[in-house]
Amino acid sequence: MKLENIIERILKNNFKIKDIISLLSLDNKDDLEVLYKKAFETMLTFTSGKIHLRAIIEFSNYCRKNCRYCGIRRGNKDQKRYRMSSEEIISVSIEAYKQGFRTVVLQSGEDLYFTKDKIGDIIKRIKEKVDIAVTLSVGERDYETYRYWKMCGADRYLMRIETTNKDLFKKLHPDDDYEYRIRCLKWIKEFGYELGTGIMLGLPKQTLEDLANDILLFKKFDADMIGCGPFLPHNGTPLFSEKMSDVNLTLKFLAVLRLVMKDINIPATTALGTIDPYGREMGLKAGCNVLMPNFTPVAYRKHYLLYNNKICIFEDANKCYQCTLERIKNVNLKASDSKGFREHS
Ligand code: SAH
Ligand code: SF4
Repeated sequence: MKLENIIERILKNNFKIKDIISLLSLDNKDDLEVLYKKAFETMLTFTSGKIHLRAIIEFSNYCRKNCRYCGIRRGNKDQKRYRMSSEEIISVSIEAYKQGFRTVVLQSGEDLYFTKDKIGDIIKRIKEKVDIAVTLSVGERDYETYRYWKMCGADRYLMRIETTNKDLFKKLHPDDDYEYRIRCLKWIKEFGYELGTGIMLGLPKQTLEDLANDILLFKKFDADMIGCGPFLPHNGTPLFSEKMSDVNLTLKFLAVLRLVMKDINIPATTALGTIDPYGREMGLKAGCNVLMPNFTPVAYRKHYLLYNNKICIFEDANKCYQCTLERIKNVNLKASDSKGFREHS
């Protein structure tokens, strides 16, 4: 089957899982260029073509969970822990607005110190002060909590499924239940958040078929945002000796995702920028349309290392913003000045 025909079938939404697998298996440079170019054109056609910026604030690295891949898992006793105060989270969010961001992503480990009411209060107070979209990324909670945070004004929720291979999910997440994670994602969608989910690529024992199934799940959920990055080992975790993922697998996955879900928001992630200095630019050229500069106050950054060699640990927030604008310019694209909701096609 010719590459162009497979791509055409996917664009017409008339494809089989084996079509996705065959694109994920491409390894010839010319074929990859065709794939990335098609994904890039699809991004330009089905979204505004402008790159949305999201300021990410990593406000606590306390975590009750022990996900086997993650540097801030509770079992990593060498990890110094920190929490930002509500006041600080609010003032940093306002600062992000002043710098030009129209979305702030509040991310943390699963830290129950930040109760339903505490986070609800933070959302309300940010929303009272500035007109900025709020994305939450704080992991699994319950039905009532998700409902309440939406009422307080949260716009989006980001929680990856990490992998749809249930056996692998179980092995990686000693505290989690796959079905409960799925239920959370359904609630989030039902309450009217923009739903963000995603996976890590190159997890130990993950297959191309798993990755194809991941894409099918995202489509079934009609997720609005898919954040995917390469798995990178962290020294303080049981997976420290596993090999890190490669940049091409991530780029292929992101490109195929763009062909399947044409109008969604797809970030070129920090992990992609960690695995290759031009990873984020390559992501934009392969169909991504979102960048998420780190806006965490610099004193905390070195304590939020989910994986080894994470980038942008010493830069101050203003520098990250300017650097991100440069990256967008370097690939001849423009930054968006809107809140960057999904533009349904
Ligand atoms: N506690 C929240 C948010 C913080 S973790 C949650 O789990 O949803 C955010 C993301 O970091 C996770 O979804 C995971 O996909 C990613 N991550 C964690 N460890 C990683 C690693 N070693 N390599 C690459 N990504 C990792
Ligand atoms: Fe905690 Fe999220 Fe890391 Fe899991 S991935 S250990 S929930 S911060």
